[in-house]
Amino acid sequence: MAELRMRCVHQVNTEVIMPRNQRVEEDELEWAFWVRADRQNLDGCWNWCGTILRDGYGRFATYNRLYRAHRFAYESYYGAVPEGLLVCHHCDNRLCCNPLHLYAGTAKQNADDRNRRGRANTARGRQKKNAVLTTDAVHLIRLNLLGLTSKEQARIYHVSPRHIRAIRSRQEWRYV
Ligand SMILES: [Zn+2]
Repeated sequence: MAELRMRCVHQVNTEVIMPRNQRVEEDELEWAFWVRADRQNLDGCWNWCGTILRDGYGRFATYNRLYRAHRFAYESYYGAVPEGLLVCHHCDNRLCCNPLHLYAGTAKQNADDRNRRGRANTARGRQKKNAVLTTDAVHLIRLNLLGLTSKEQARIYHVSPRHIRAIRSRQEWRYV
């Protein structure tokens, strides 16, 4: 009789109470995760604001597991990462947790992607080589609220007037 009662208690525990507890736990996990991601810009990168690992990826620790933040973000939107695949960034921003910027790919895809971006970055870097400008400065130069000439702007920003004209016509800094 005692054994039967025990089994009943056991059944109640596993079938009714446990799943509900697990659900609550999952919700809490999701909440604990997403409050640490900066989601102000819906289309942009959602940067992880929690702990950052030495390799530049975000770190999200639960009571029994350690996640890379972008991997947790991927799994909470798309489900488990298929076996053998990595969670990669389209945006090349390791802190980004925006699921739309994430994809599951092979190590080779990831390396190809990085190489492609590496080449693109080198090209962009060359364009910026003679400039000591920030993206904010580029925005201000283009806005030109004071209606300055390219010569005047060149003097303010310590670059050549030709460079200013190239910025204005988007031949330079075209990604800004
Ligand atoms: Zn991103």
